[in-house]
Amino acid sequence: MGIADGKRALVIGVANDKSLAWAIAQELKAQGAELAFTYQGEILEKRVRPLAEQVGAKVIGELDVTNDAQIAATFANIGQLWGGLDILVHAVAYAEREDLRDRFLTVSRKNFLRSLEISAYSLVALARAAEPLMEKRAAGSILTLTYLGSVRAVPNYNVMGVAKAALEACVRYLALDLGRKGIRVNALSAGPARTLSSAAIRDFHTMQHVVEERSPLGRGIRHEEVGKMAATLLSDLSTGVTGQTIYVDSGFNIIGV
Ligand code: NAP
Repeated sequence: MGIADGKRALVIGVANDKSLAWAIAQELKAQGAELAFTYQGEILEKRVRPLAEQVGAKVIGELDVTNDAQIAATFANIGQLWGGLDILVHAVAYAEREDLRDRFLTVSRKNFLRSLEISAYSLVALARAAEPLMEKRAAGSILTLTYLGSVRAVPNYNVMGVAKAALEACVRYLALDLGRKGIRVNALSAGPARTLSSAAIRDFHTMQHVVEERSPLGRGIRHEEVGKMAATLLSDLSTGVTGQTIYVDSGFNIIGV
């Protein structure tokens, strides 16, 4: 018996086998969930399909989270496939590479808005589309991924930190809106982990080394640790938890100096 037995989960944000979304998908599968993935564009489709096969996931189709028609089509397909939805994983973020280095204050209006649209507003749009499908199951759990740069000024994280602060606020307001329907919304704040996206952040290895040196556990996080906590937050083991940001960062966030 797994903690996600009988649950149906839509996972958005698998780009390759280093993606945190992939670690979450693998753990959900191990815990008994049935999975569906989306992909962004042809290049990612080629990478996502073989991964989907490994965990028996359905590939629903293309989803760029800035495209409302694609969001509607994704959830219409899920409705046809499963009739309802128990779990939504949002593991999507974007900032221009030029904004993940040097000074935050040089970010353009256009790039600022794009980062916040993709990294924060998309959770609202996806939760709204998921709501009727989760209502059909009389409950649901939504999880997004965030980082400490939302509440601390982390060099080079810049506009992504602002987007993550907005994302965490969205989690609280969505939790309030959806709670009476039995739908929970939480964020998992992961310590630095090497992925396609994190490679764009200048001096990313320094973020990792500082955690290894100073965190209570004295090491970085493992992808599977994100998967395990995510599965807990997405399962009925955490039915009393909503609107929270839960850290999986070797305890680094509690350290003062
Ligand atoms: P990743 O494997 O590169 O995943 C990021 C995903 O976001 C990719 O699948 C990417 O697709 C997708 N994406 C970007 N723009 C999109 C759009 N408009 N529509 C749909 N999908 C879009 O990197 P990751 O590190 O696992 O990131 C997953 C989440 O974890 C992000 O929210 C990230 O901020 C968060 N996080 C990461 C770390 C870390 O250290 N890695 C720490 C804390 C939190 P494309 O490749 O096509 O752009």
